[in-house]
Amino acid sequence: MSNLRNPQYDAWLHLATSYHCNLECNYCIAGIRYVSKILTKTFLNLFALNKILNDSNKIYKITLTGGEPFLAPNIVEACIELTKKHFISFNTNLTPKSVKEFAEKIDPERVLCIDAACHIKELERRNLLSRYIDNFLLCKNRGFNIRAIEVGYPPLLEESDKYIKIFLEQGIDLTYSPYFGSYKGKSYPDSYSEKELKILGLTKKDIIDWFHQYGKLCNAGYNVGIIHPNGDTRYCVLINESFGNVYEGIKFKDKLVRCPFKLCNCPMNIYDPYLFRKAMSEVGSYDAEWIQPSKYRISQFVKNFIFDGKQNYLTDNTRKLIIEKVMSNKFLRKYLFKYWI
Ligand code: SF4
Ligand code: SF4
Repeated sequence: MSNLRNPQYDAWLHLATSYHCNLECNYCIAGIRYVSKILTKTFLNLFALNKILNDSNKIYKITLTGGEPFLAPNIVEACIELTKKHFISFNTNLTPKSVKEFAEKIDPERVLCIDAACHIKELERRNLLSRYIDNFLLCKNRGFNIRAIEVGYPPLLEESDKYIKIFLEQGIDLTYSPYFGSYKGKSYPDSYSEKELKILGLTKKDIIDWFHQYGKLCNAGYNVGIIHPNGDTRYCVLINESFGNVYEGIKFKDKLVRCPFKLCNCPMNIYDPYLFRKAMSEVGSYDAEWIQPSKYRISQFVKNFIFDGKQNYLTDNTRKLIIEKVMSNKFLRKYLFKYWI
């Protein structure tokens, strides 16, 4: 276990290394199972990122996510470079072959956390459960701070006792995290029963305090941000405002935002209280930014993602395919004509 209890860093970046994944979970919020076949498999250039970060005078916490980050080319070499100055963490399904090399070559002291998402049904379907367990135990025994986390998808929670026991027999504490999305006409995490919340180790109040963020202050864009596979840097998963890219430079904003969303599945202000407190002590609520109404943001997202050839990472053929798909859908076509075109 890492004994680095109090790492000092100035900012936190979530890297979506690509949207490519070797699994196809049916609750995937990244929509991997639907988009991976039509999106080009662009991977973030981690070496270009490392150069930009090293040129700044900041120490970063860098969370590698995706898609599946261990599928990124040269991932181990990139981690060796990144960890010379910065700290890293992972959101991974822990099944790619590069996990073993990573565990053997990277210093656990520079890895704050490995969140090993354990997609049980998908692992069973693909015969990968034993590889997950082997990789988990390898990382654990090498001293990495690693957690096994299954998504609290309602039908999976019905079998939670069984799976918690199976993993415990292997020396692994399996926990469940909230699912965001709908199931049988109910929307989650708001619809969890008391029994289900107990499995997640949460209360109704936690769900409201953590994920219902509308109007609250957030440090997204101030000292945390996300980076897409094409290198664009955004405030957070939901706020699609740019503050640079990994090829030309990253310039954080000088004020906090007030969250414009009713539900947030990745509240930066909660998930890294250290950086939020730091932001509050530096700038506080003064002049906090209200982001544009949602229809503007959605149209910007559509514009950046599909139509703007300079910014996106789609080939012309892929872009054409997506446009055809969007235009063949009555609702989306109506939306585009109403708000964007
Ligand atoms: S492992 Fe993660 S990214 Fe891959 S399909 Fe499953 S939920 Fe999506
Ligand atoms: S959506 Fe989440 S991360 Fe983005 S500003 Fe709101 S609380 Fe912060």
